[in-house]
Amino acid sequence: MPESPLGLETHPPHAQHPRHSGHPLHPGHSWHPWHSWHSFADAVLAVLLAPACAACDHPLDEPTRGPGCSHCWAAIVPITPPVCQACGDPLPSWRTISVECSRCPRCRRRDLHITQGRAIGAYEGSLRAIVHALKYGGRRSLAKPLAALLAQHGADVLKDADVVVPVPLHRSRKRARGFNQAAEIARHLPVPTADALRRVRSTRSQTDLPAAKRHANVRNAFALGRRARIKDRVVVLVDDVSTTGATLDASAQVLLEAGAREVRALTVARVASRLR
Ligand SMILES: [Zn+2]
Ligand SMILES: [Zn+2]
Repeated sequence: MPESPLGLETHPPHAQHPRHSGHPLHPGHSWHPWHSWHSFADAVLAVLLAPACAACDHPLDEPTRGPGCSHCWAAIVPITPPVCQACGDPLPSWRTISVECSRCPRCRRRDLHITQGRAIGAYEGSLRAIVHALKYGGRRSLAKPLAALLAQHGADVLKDADVVVPVPLHRSRKRARGFNQAAEIARHLPVPTADALRRVRSTRSQTDLPAAKRHANVRNAFALGRRARIKDRVVVLVDDVSTTGATLDASAQVLLEAGAREVRALTVARVASRLR
């Protein structure tokens, strides 16, 4: 009789139940106590020996290294230079020839409050799954490795910065989620954090809205926090995902009106222009 890693006797399904075909957990088979014992044992083994990756659900190869598997971290596709100086979107390489062309067409068309922006990668694939696990799955321990990646990809943005400011959630949303994912990421960055902003208006999720409505949705949504010491400082806004940049821009406007010298932005992921 084969032995399981816990020393339990296991029975090959077809040896004792030749009339059963297929997987015993699939519907359509008659119930037998052995089946339920086996699924129980599977569940116990899965929990004891193979916790799943928070992002892809496959068993973790190295559970002691955090809730994301090495495959998911390696599968992140970073946004690499040349990028738009202002929003961090990828640029065709020929644009870097001239300084005037260091901004994407969209950023050249508008007045920006943010001087520099960067993201780790596009909001797709495993980066999207990792952000989801942090934000909606409550896996806060993903914030630290994400911050390490962000510090690496956003080194230019963090250089000479005085303070990082997480984009706040409205208190009702923060209460429902239990934490602000942007603040979790910000506190692991190598620059001091300040809760300089608060969200005074609960807004619809930007991802539910067409691009044209996003600026209106977040207008007047932010105000200066009580502990905002940002006068004459170089501030880096931090958020998990940016799409059109409307939320970052509305936040930056408040900080600049309060006397910040410069506002930059770092986001974990950026929704690629073609998906907007
Ligand atoms: Zn994974
Ligand atoms: Zn741009």
